[in-house]
Amino acid sequence: MTHVAILGGGLAGLATAFELQRSDHTFDLYEASDRFGGKVWSSLVGDRMVDAGADTFLARVPQGRALCEQLGLADQLTSPVAPVPAYIHRSGALHELPKGTVLGVPTDLDELAASGLISAQGLAEVAAEPTRPPTDLGGDISVGAYFRERLGDEVTERLIDPMIGGINASDIDRLSLRSAAPQIAAAAQGHVSILEGLRAARASVGATLGSAGPGADEPVFYGLPGGTARIIDALVAVLDARSLHLGASPTLDGLGADRVVIATPAPAASRLLAEVSPTASRLLAEIQYSSVAQVSVEFEAQAVTPHLDASGILFPRVDGMVLTACTWFSTKWAHYQRADRVLLRLTSGRFGDTRALDLGDEALVNRLLTEVQCVLDITAEPTALRVHRWIDALPQYVPGHADRVEAIFAALGADAPHITLAGAAYRGIGIPATIASAWTAAQAVRT
Ligand SMILES: Cc1cc2nc3c(=O)[nH]c(=O)nc-3n(C[C@H](O)[C@H](O)[C@H](O)COP(=O)(O)OP(=O)(O)OC[C@H]3O[C@@H](n4cnc5c(N)ncnc54)[C@H](O)[C@@H]3O)c2cc1C
Repeated sequence: MTHVAILGGGLAGLATAFELQRSDHTFDLYEASDRFGGKVWSSLVGDRMVDAGADTFLARVPQGRALCEQLGLADQLTSPVAPVPAYIHRSGALHELPKGTVLGVPTDLDELAASGLISAQGLAEVAAEPTRPPTDLGGDISVGAYFRERLGDEVTERLIDPMIGGINASDIDRLSLRSAAPQIAAAAQGHVSILEGLRAARASVGATLGSAGPGADEPVFYGLPGGTARIIDALVAVLDARSLHLGASPTLDGLGADRVVIATPAPAASRLLAEVSPTASRLLAEIQYSSVAQVSVEFEAQAVTPHLDASGILFPRVDGMVLTACTWFSTKWAHYQRADRVLLRLTSGRFGDTRALDLGDEALVNRLLTEVQCVLDITAEPTALRVHRWIDALPQYVPGHADRVEAIFAALGADAPHITLAGAAYRGIGIPATIASAWTAAQAVRT
């Protein structure tokens, strides 16, 4: 039996270990910090555990639900209950996310017009999209470059940036269409008009594109009462405790393993591989990260108006605010609802914008609460709050990312075939994609 060393005890490392344990392979997992889970974590806000990082995951990528099934959590999966998916902020007003929007791309022009979010000029630019010549995708293109050309700047900055840019804490003008929005890239490959491509895809697969199609009853997102970190707790509970090592960051020498899975963020993987695969190490070092600061904050219910009827508000970068999103946790999720309290999460920080991270905790909280009051009336102090700083947390998939990843795996395969990589740095940042990377890594070291 192969004995495997796993470096990194986030979701990728733990899911790799579970997959190996399920097939009777032995492993030792080393986590540098004093807790497992990495970016999947819950923390105490007031008297309840609240998601500090990921609060949800996509249903259409099957590995998230599949792992929950294996861990006995599937019957507890839940979906957002907010009556309105989200609002977009513009000039102190809230505009409902137009129905038919796929990752920020408006496929229904009547709904877009009704939202009041876009000017007449902007609407005309979107309406003209099907008549425009094909956009040269080259090997890859940025999300911003592609949509500015196809739909114009206004809808790109007011809708696509807060959705795709927000999910990745990115600058959409430096974000790969192919790697960060593969379903849109696929539609763009098959159609000259992205609007027609997405309408065709919606008609055939509906909810699987990340926006419920007409009549679709499949869930788009999942969450877990108590937080997505329950996946981490369940993994740690089921794994052989003697094989789990906290506060341990060994080098590759002397691991005493036949195979190695490096499931750390890319910079740590780069350092680990400096000697054994200089090419892979150099390419890994080129993967950049963005940092995010979040404030989970609870108020007495009557202290916040208007009535919160959506999962939250997105704040486009073009508005110049530090705030990028305000998630209305106590509306979005049944498990955070409580008659006497509202629970919000204020998010800030994007690639190339460190203003929030440069502030101390008190200044950060004040700044985010001040900014959100352009749309919310808050009349009392919080009953509880908690600041989370996620430094160098979200890998940035710049144009050409997929080719870089292929080159990393090829170099590593040639230099050190007993070592492989797993985690969010490579082929998808979300929870299901991270699990998929773990399963691929487990398969690679088993054979
Ligand atoms: C604020 C935030 C919100 C998010 N929201 C969502 C969401 O709603 N939905 C979604 O699907 N995804 C979301 N994500 C993304 C998702 O949570 C992450 O991409 C995923 O959890 C990454 O898992 P990972 O195991 O690859 O990396 P990590 O979680 O970074 O784990 C890597 C681990 O390796 C350890 N490590 C580092 N160096 C070493 C070393 N030398 N030796 C040993 N251990 C080491 C680290 O301490 C860490 O525990 C979010 C991410 C963030 C930051």
